[in-house]
Amino acid sequence: MDVPVLAALADLVLPRTCAGCGVPGAMLCPRCAPLLAAPRLAEPRRFPAGFPPTVAAGAYAGPVRPAINAFKEQGRAELAAPLGAALALAVAAVRLGAGAPSRPPVVLVPVPTSPAAVRARGRDHVRELTARAIAELRAAGVPATGCRALRRRGRIRDSAALSASQRRANLAGTFALDARRRPAGALLVLVDDVVTTGATLTEAASVLAAGLPPGGFPVLAAVVAATPRSPGAPRADPVRTRRYRAGNVLRQDLDRLSRPRGKD
Ligand SMILES: [Zn+2]
Repeated sequence: MDVPVLAALADLVLPRTCAGCGVPGAMLCPRCAPLLAAPRLAEPRRFPAGFPPTVAAGAYAGPVRPAINAFKEQGRAELAAPLGAALALAVAAVRLGAGAPSRPPVVLVPVPTSPAAVRARGRDHVRELTARAIAELRAAGVPATGCRALRRRGRIRDSAALSASQRRANLAGTFALDARRRPAGALLVLVDDVVTTGATLTEAASVLAAGLPPGGFPVLAAVVAATPRSPGAPRADPVRTRRYRAGNVLRQDLDRLSRPRGKD
């Protein structure tokens, strides 16, 4: 029996607790859910060159960390609903910043998880999040599709103990563009669960952008949560974001989207 089925069965017999703080009741309690409804630009500690404009639905800190971990590593697949809603919010926000006059359809490109990680977990949690986010966006009237345009190639070392530059070197050549699935004529948004150093998104964005015609929209990215910027760290290089209107991210016309919330 696979992990999601076990989790679903456990829900039938065990009282549900908030995945963020552990209080009994909703899967994300009314205190924790709003932490994933606060879109902001992700600002890694050191911006890797080529880091795409990235919006996170919340900070990867406090109760958000155990909530994402419960979904990713502990089989609480039902969290795809609130976390997918959070990802949809981040996609909608990053799309606003692109300032596209005609609001082109948005194509969500999941950052591929390694086959070994998918085998170990028994599921592909980023694909689950992507599917849920697409459904949320469509329900809100945002034309959205998914495209698995990237695939993994080769093996990479576990990056947990590596510095940002070591991660970048470790990741070089990790992703390949699947020519049969190359999306065209749309706003491409890489999607992932979490951004920390930004190395993975940077590498994925460079591979994706290399397959696009020049002069189009830049590749964007959206994640459920981003490591918060440490106080005093330098802000984003303005040249880096020249083609991206960061101020638009905070425009509050995201109201059509449902916000992450605990559902029973
Ligand atoms: Zn909570």
